[in-house]
Amino acid sequence: SLLPTARFATTVAKLAQLPRDGLPEVAFVGRSNAGKSSAINALCQRRRLAFASKTPGRTQALNCFALGPEKLDRPLALIVDTPGYGFAAAPLEVKREWDQLAGRYLQVRDALCAVVLVMDVRRGVTELDRALLRWIRPDVPVLVILTKSDKLGRAQQRQALDTVEAALREARLPNPVSLLAFSSTTGLGLEQARGWLEAVLGE
Ligand code: GDP
Repeated sequence: SLLPTARFATTVAKLAQLPRDGLPEVAFVGRSNAGKSSAINALCQRRRLAFASKTPGRTQALNCFALGPEKLDRPLALIVDTPGYGFAAAPLEVKREWDQLAGRYLQVRDALCAVVLVMDVRRGVTELDRALLRWIRPDVPVLVILTKSDKLGRAQQRQALDTVEAALREARLPNPVSLLAFSSTTGLGLEQARGWLEAVLGE
């Protein structure tokens, strides 16, 4: 599997600084505090690969992690971690910066081959999530992971899955969308998420 080979590659604050070698990229997106960093670290079996940014988007950047055997002279794929969005206290300027960087990345990046949307299971699909999903090119598959599912009982998990599934159906996205209950703490959904990632990366 490619995921355990993940290592830091580069941080960019502008799209023009992204690598030009056309490697397939999988982007991780989510509201701040949704559990995105924890999910990346769990999927890659690394303790501190991705870091949560605790300040409302102070230095917004795309963090790229390389995947593939290190002995090759170039990676096989990249994970692109986008800044969390939806900070309640974020000034308009921060929102604009997010749109300019991560938003534009989702819309224009040719190398983007899949998106993982990390959502707190207790929060559901918000208007911001819907707006973001509409930016993703229609052919790009999306995996929605409802993380922190360990905080809910079985019945509540089922209910959350049903609610999100209905909201996604209502959004009528052209993209292939998959949905998964997930927990970085217990490993719920971890193997399915890894399987999905390996499939989109053509492993
Ligand atoms: P990010 O801002 O989206 O990167 O979120 P983090 O990964 O930093 O997680 C935010 C908070 O939620 C942290 O306190 C994590 O420990 C906690 N957290 C993340 N994932 C899970 C999970 O699956 N289960 C539980 N119980 N807590 C989680």
